[in-house]
Formats: sequence, structure tokens, C-alpha cells
Amino acid sequence: MSIRIHHLNCGTMCPLCSRLMNDVNGSWAKPGHLVCHCLLIETPETLVLVDTGLGHQDVVNTKHRLGSVYPALFRPQLKESETAISQIKALGYDPRDVRHIALTHVDLDHAGGLSDFPEATVHIFKPELEQILKPTWQDRQRFRLVQFDHQPKWQVHEEGGDEWFGFSSIRAIPNISTDILLIPLIGHTRGHTGIAVKQGDKWLLHCGDSYYHHSQITTSPQAPIGLTFFEAAVQSLREPRIWNQGRLRDLAANHGNEVELFCSHDPVELARYTTSGIEVTI
Ligand SMILES: [Zn+2]
Repeated sequence: MSIRIHHLNCGTMCPLCSRLMNDVNGSWAKPGHLVCHCLLIETPETLVLVDTGLGHQDVVNTKHRLGSVYPALFRPQLKESETAISQIKALGYDPRDVRHIALTHVDLDHAGGLSDFPEATVHIFKPELEQILKPTWQDRQRFRLVQFDHQPKWQVHEEGGDEWFGFSSIRAIPNISTDILLIPLIGHTRGHTGIAVKQGDKWLLHCGDSYYHHSQITTSPQAPIGLTFFEAAVQSLREPRIWNQGRLRDLAANHGNEVELFCSHDPVELARYTTSGIEVTI
């Protein structure tokens, strides 16, 4: 059996400048460059999406869907061709074959594409969903509830005592031969998770927004100040966020030959993978 994993950028953003958002030695004049790193996993049984980036409705109905703060600050390119549904069609797949979506969290740049796959089951950690089902005043400011108007088919998951490299883990999708796990990494939001996928004899860990810059999980973090400011400004739970980022650093140091980590928005990490996909045998 083989699985094929496509690493997709489902939303380019050009905020501020490169020096503040990408590289401490970068240019003040050049705009920043962030991506929305999503996965399309072709398993023997079904297509699975990990995060959805910005979707069709975000591109065509931007003010209504995204408000005015995020587009002004992050300057998303809003290209129809970058939406997950367009890329899936361009790869020759039928979007209706995406029957499962695993979501790291419900921020607008991760959940925007959900409405393009209304028939898919959306796997989510319980505390994450509560933020939009029973939103506080702060939740209403942060999350774009309009992105969930189509009533996604949620499948809520809770911790059940399973472990993965010392992290709590939840087997998300039943009846498939590929290992896809939710790994609770709370802090950025109250129910934020990573998504671990077994690829051959190694694991990929999509870390969502647990960190923003590849250097943050090395022994010499050098994240630009604009990114670290934003990271702290939007965190829901400060101590758990910092603790979990430390655990990811330890994971990379101690198990780097078994687990490959990447986050949502770092273009350097996305560039490690080809958009044509990586085929492996399991
Ligand atoms: Zn994000």
C-alpha cells in the first residue's frame, strides 16, 4: 500500500517587511512572505486534508468572510488558484473524494476552505470547537463565525490516554490504514492541535501555529520580532503555548530522525517539499 502526500500552499500572505516577518537579517524594503501550509493525503481509502487555508468564499467575498483587520495586516494574495479546492481539481482529483479534514485550529487562515468541502467530516479537538459553538466576546472578535455558516460535519475528539513520543495523542480517522493523529498542543488557541501522519517509517508532524519560524524549534531560535510579537499578541494561553513550543524543540532534538516537524506559515519549511508530492510505501 502506498500513500501520497501533497504539501499545498493554500494562501500566500505579504505582511509588513521581510526583516520583521521572515529573516532577522532580511530586507526592510521587501514585503514579508508567509504561506498556509496544508496537506492533501491520498490514502488507499480516501483523500484527507490537513487544514484548509483560505477558501473560495474568502477570495470572492473577502470583506464579509475575513473582515477588515486581517486583510489589512497580512495582505493575503487571495488567489483562487491557491485554494485547496482549486489545487485538488488541478491535481486531477474529485473534491468530493475529500471525505475527512483534520483541523489544527479554527483561525480564519486555517478554516476558510471548510465550506468548499461541505460533505467532509471535520475532525477537531473538543476545546477548539467550543470556542465557536459557545464563543465568548473575545472569541467573536477573533474567529470568523461566518466561515462556519454551512454547518460543517464536526467530529469532536477528546483525549483518551494514548501517547505518542510523550505527547497525548488521539487517533482521529476510523477505518483507514494510514495513521493520522491529533496531538493536543494548546496555547495559540484553547484547543489547538498538531496533526501527525505516518509516512513510511517516519512521522510528519504538522505543528499548525505552535510556532511560526523554523529556528524556533532549534537550539538557537532567531525568529524575527514581528513574528514573535504577533505570536504573543494572539495567544489564548501563554504558559501552555511556551511549554508546548519547548516540547516541540525537545522532540526535534531527540527524535529528529523519526519525526519531521513543520508549521503552517513558514515558507522555508514548505520549500523542503515538492508540490508534486512525495510517494512512499507503507
Ligand atoms: Zn495561522
